[in-house]
Amino acid sequence: MKLEDKLFLDRFKPDEHAHISIVSQDVCARCPDKPCTIVCPAEVYHWDGEKTVVSYENCIECGACRLICPYNNIACTMPRGGFGVQYKYG
Ligand code: SF4
Ligand code: SF4
Repeated sequence: MKLEDKLFLDRFKPDEHAHISIVSQDVCARCPDKPCTIVCPAEVYHWDGEKTVVSYENCIECGACRLICPYNNIACTMPRGGFGVQYKYG
C-alpha cells in the first residue's frame, strides 16, 4: 500500500489555529536544502520560491520536521484537544 493510500485512512479535524509556524522566512530563504520539504511524510511544507508554505491541516504529528530543520526554525505545538489527526489503526 502506498503512503498516500495509508494517509487517506487517517481522519483529520483541523483546528483553525495553526499548530505549526515558521519562525523566520528569511532563514528559510537562506536554507540551502530545505529538508522540511523532503522529510515530512504528509507534505506539509512547500517552498513556493519566496517562502515556506505550511499546510498544517495535513500534519500527522510525527515530529520529524522539528528534528530535521537545521536552524530550529519551526515552531510546533500539539493541536488543541479534539483537533488534529485521528488514527484508525493504532
Ligand atoms: S528546514 Fe527549516 S529553515 Fe529550512 S526551509 Fe524548512 S523550516 Fe525553513
Ligand atoms: S510533525 Fe510530521 S507530519 Fe507534521 S509537519 Fe512535522 S514532519 Fe510533517
